[in-house]
Amino acid sequence: VKYQGKNHYRIYKPLSDDKSLRKLAIEKDIYSVIANEELEVYYQPQIETDTGLIYGVEALVRWNHPEFGLISPADFIPLAEATGVIFPLNEWVLRTACKQLKIWHEQGILIYMAVNISPQQFYKEENLTTKVKEVLDECELDPSFLVIEITEAIAINNMDIAIRKLFELKRLGVQVALDDFGTGYSSLSYLTQLPIDTIKIAREFIDEIGTASTTSAILAALVTMANDLNLKIVLEGVEREEQLQQLMRFRSHYMQGFYFSRPIPLEEMNAMLNDMCVP
Ligand code: C2E
Ligand code: CA
Ligand code: CA
Repeated sequence: VKYQGKNHYRIYKPLSDDKSLRKLAIEKDIYSVIANEELEVYYQPQIETDTGLIYGVEALVRWNHPEFGLISPADFIPLAEATGVIFPLNEWVLRTACKQLKIWHEQGILIYMAVNISPQQFYKEENLTTKVKEVLDECELDPSFLVIEITEAIAINNMDIAIRKLFELKRLGVQVALDDFGTGYSSLSYLTQLPIDTIKIAREFIDEIGTASTTSAILAALVTMANDLNLKIVLEGVEREEQLQQLMRFRSHYMQGFYFSRPIPLEEMNAMLNDMCVP
């Protein structure tokens, strides 16, 4: 059982029991996940540091498996990638998130929507930009409110393709955020070559704040660099009050993490938005 904000508990079935049986079952079931309408988008608020208000949300997919309950994307995204289900899955998430964003905008809640694009989809889907444009048109959304999150690995694996595709996407008017920034790559020079609006500093750095003394120095350097390059900064994975206190010195624009809220289903997100969003 995991704590999920006020009075909300969800059961996560432990992977250890009947692990291989479960694995076989989900390998089979992944193919019908969309037809059976078993996917759900959860939303996690992103908070403006200065005001403490919600300025955007990140769409995070969940699988409501009829037998195993809620399955985390860490468990099925790799499977979806291996089977090719990732393409319709990501399109479903994008469309669902954009439709919801349109509803919020019509209610006067002018927040941003961040959607994750997996490496597979980024590199293998030739008409990715066309798909995104289709969805934006269909939902009649102002493209600048859509933030495409890509990982650092995407940006680095094949710089030429990454540059071409990112510029294609940027021409639609959407924003691009670099997710999990700072995990594993030492070259920062690519940052100047890619059309990126935001970097999301990886949870690993935030975790260590207050325990490892070098982390503060690295974080300070990353924030300075991002500011110099005119990039917006999101600090990810803020979990505790003490972390928040320490992080306030780094002058990031935005924060995201369990401290503010876990990813929550639509109903709860609606309730939260009525209380606190950037007007
Ligand atoms: P991510 O894009 O880095 O998403 C953030 C993950 O960190 C989410 O896990 C979120 O629940 C978790 N998180 C947020 N705040 C905190 C915190 O304070 N502490 C801790 N410990 N964790 C926090 P989630 O939802 O399980 O998603 C895992 C990953 O699965 C995502 O990592 C993303 O790479 C992928 N994913 C999720 N939804 C989608 C999707 O629709 N499409 C694709 N392609 N990938 C997705
Ligand atoms: Ca993300
Ligand atoms: Ca992340």
